[in-house]
Amino acid sequence: MRPAAASERDVWSPDPDPLVAALERSMTALGTTYLYHVHRDLHRVLGLPSLPADLIRSTYHVETLAKASQAEARRRALERAQRLFQERLAGYAPGDVPPEAYRDLVRVITEEWYGRGKLETRAQQRAVASYIVGLVQGGYALRVRPEVMLERYTGLLGERHAARIEFARARAAEHVRFLDDQTRHAILQTIYAWEEDRRQPIDLARALADRFGVLNRDWRRVALTETARNRSAGFIAALPEGALVEWSAARDACDKCRALHGRRFTVVHPGPGDPKLDVWVGKNPIGRRDPVEHAAIPLHPHCRCRWILVTHAGTPTDRGAEADPDFEEKLQALIAAASK
Ligand SMILES: [Zn+2]
Repeated sequence: MRPAAASERDVWSPDPDPLVAALERSMTALGTTYLYHVHRDLHRVLGLPSLPADLIRSTYHVETLAKASQAEARRRALERAQRLFQERLAGYAPGDVPPEAYRDLVRVITEEWYGRGKLETRAQQRAVASYIVGLVQGGYALRVRPEVMLERYTGLLGERHAARIEFARARAAEHVRFLDDQTRHAILQTIYAWEEDRRQPIDLARALADRFGVLNRDWRRVALTETARNRSAGFIAALPEGALVEWSAARDACDKCRALHGRRFTVVHPGPGDPKLDVWVGKNPIGRRDPVEHAAIPLHPHCRCRWILVTHAGTPTDRGAEADPDFEEKLQALIAAASK
């Protein structure tokens, strides 16, 4: 296993801001629910010996999974996968499973849960919610119930925001497609290695649980990073041209982020401005040789730093909180709507 970088240390701890924590939880649950169901169906169809409950808990790191489909539909999905696998195996001696049979099985199970989970649509909804939370935290005055914005952001927020949101949605869809692909590859490579080596079923059960644990942690990191990226974009988008923002490093930030703590940037619309002095919506360090020279939040995967507005008096403040006293409640309703 590769060593965890400082920024990966506590990927499972929630953000101290309850709104951000709720957004993170919502995006995380989407991938975790998919992985859990794929894992469970695969385990059952392959008839693997059961694993200790502790192991499953430490693999998925959640108390409750996002709402899945009804038990009946779940059972039918499992039965279909089972039947298909049996048909595929007909004529082969036990213990002599052809690799394509595994491939078909994995495809059927992942397609089932990807489609049933409506993963792309749901990931997109969550991405929009993150942007709107950032927008409101940046001081954008809400004139409608925030849930309405989930569907009607184009009409309500205007061209500039709609264009940014389209990128957030596209990235979210790409991330879940990648999760789906990665999951299939990871499962098949694990099965092939096990089959070739002629090991015991319990070995496959353990190896799969390990791989699912890694997939789940990787997804958690994506969920945190995307939440940060979208929220940060919304926050900057809400501020007027020329506003001053300050980098506030997360408590357990890495050295690079810590070095940026307290540095001030001027908001420019639209970008790009001077990367050392300005920040604009969409500014990001991806693909830059020196990310600090082109600093933006998130600086790296699982970056928990945040922008803070510097007021005219020169003091950093969280703006949304004073703009609307019940904004937190409204935004929690938005997140709940996006998490359906
Ligand atoms: Zn950071």
